[in-house]
Amino acid sequence: MIVKRASCPACGTMLTLPDEAAAGDRLEHCGETFRLLHAYGVFALEREE
Ligand SMILES: [Zn+2]
Repeated sequence: MIVKRASCPACGTMLTLPDEAAAGDRLEHCGETFRLLHAYGVFALEREE
């Protein structure tokens, strides 16, 4: 099983994502809302505008 992870752009913490996590999901962390991106097999978080 693949563990989905993405690092927080605000604090650099490596977050473990839920199994059902998918691109476009919103995630709250560090008091901000981030959108989950999935590209080239890697997850990343982008700040919501
Ligand atoms: Zn953070």
